[in-house]
Amino acid sequence: DPRLQGISDAIRVVPHFPKPGIMFNDITALLLRPGVFKDAVDLFVERYRGMGIAAVAGIEARGFIFGPAIALAIGAKFIPLRKPGKLPGAVISENYTLEYGTDCLEMHVGAVEPGDRVVVVDDLVATGGTLSAAIKLLERAAADVVECACLIGLPKFKVPHIRISKKTCI
Ligand code: IMP
Repeated sequence: DPRLQGISDAIRVVPHFPKPGIMFNDITALLLRPGVFKDAVDLFVERYRGMGIAAVAGIEARGFIFGPAIALAIGAKFIPLRKPGKLPGAVISENYTLEYGTDCLEMHVGAVEPGDRVVVVDDLVATGGTLSAAIKLLERAAADVVECACLIGLPKFKVPHIRISKKTCI
């Protein structure tokens, strides 16, 4: 797809952020270019429209940038998967392990109905730990997680344990 090159070119790689040795993939440069931002959203919308997707679940924080645009375009609800302590209602939580330490995602009880077909959205997948936690959280609420959609899939990480379609990792 000719749009992919423009998307790839618009993602800025910032060395040594937020810590020395880390190459940070920064999508904010892409957001400054409305045509490219639209291309990125459109690619996902074209993939998920007509698939009976009931919900798009976005992972805090950059999943909140792409997820709602995709949800609105395909007529799905948007569910924020948040860091601990941010959601005011009753939540279910899923802890997960990071390279150093642990983190947690939370979702409001009742956000998904049993059997809802859900797409999980984030900007980037590295080890897949974050997406795996999101899948577990949604499946504990009896959702049917159809796919995970990320703009960036870091090539050095292989993520066989989660359902990622190459096509959705731009
Ligand atoms: P994983 O859990 O190892 O797959 O890491 C993915 C999570 O870390 C996602 O929520 C990303 O937003 C975040 N992340 C990791 N590296 C980067 C990066 O280079 N740019 C932006 N986000 C990143």
